[in-house]
Amino acid sequence: MSLARQQLIRPLSRSPLLSFSTFRSTLITQRYISTSKFAQAEHHDHDHQLHSDMKLLHKGSQKPLYANHDKDIERYKRGATAVDKAVHLFFITEIMRGMWIVIENFFREPYTIMYPFEKGPLSPRFRGEHALRRYPSGEERCIACKLCEAICPAQAITIESEARMDGSRRTTRYDIDMTKCIYCGFCQEACPVDAIVETQNQEFSTETREELMYNKEKLLANGDRAEAEIAANLHSDHVYR
Ligand code: SF4
Ligand code: SF4
Repeated sequence: MSLARQQLIRPLSRSPLLSFSTFRSTLITQRYISTSKFAQAEHHDHDHQLHSDMKLLHKGSQKPLYANHDKDIERYKRGATAVDKAVHLFFITEIMRGMWIVIENFFREPYTIMYPFEKGPLSPRFRGEHALRRYPSGEERCIACKLCEAICPAQAITIESEARMDGSRRTTRYDIDMTKCIYCGFCQEACPVDAIVETQNQEFSTETREELMYNKEKLLANGDRAEAEIAANLHSDHVYR
């Protein structure tokens, strides 16, 4: 307790004839002291003192005036009463509530599916295994601009290219290290001709790392196999691209 508060309260608490007006002014002063910066600073490291009540006493009583006000405010801070606990115990209400949840969930449609026999829905934007696409004529789309290689944050793509006899440029090597890929989709976003895409195939786990080093033939084969699905997904998303 601050020195100012002690000096203020002591003489008042000893006085047997504490008038109402004196008591009221004491309360106001007490509140002023307790909210002042001085008082807060002094009690900063002594939290227990902050909770000690005024030592003002009723006339002729040793009971502090505000000794019980905490109990009224935090009536249930100690949890259920002994009677409450006895009622719950006697009527086994907790077991009944638990059984009700079991019954509710028994008739509810299950959240789980029997994967891999059942499969959940996939977004058209799902980013799975990579593929290289061709035009309907069979010509590969990739023009070896290397934008996908440049933008790949994992540096998983390696491209080599050369010019053909007709002057067009095509890749001679297009490798993706799928063990490095983080499936960010940047490569397909960067591609100006929608050549490299990520399909909805997510089931391409292998037993060796070498099998996850995809070359151009593997990527073109993926594209040939999933072309209809890729085209449908791109079309459903084209308004947002
Ligand atoms: S999805 Fe991302 S990390 Fe994977 S190859 Fe494309 S750009 Fe690289
Ligand atoms: S896949 Fe697309 S972005 Fe990558 S080199 Fe070919 S045309 Fe360019």
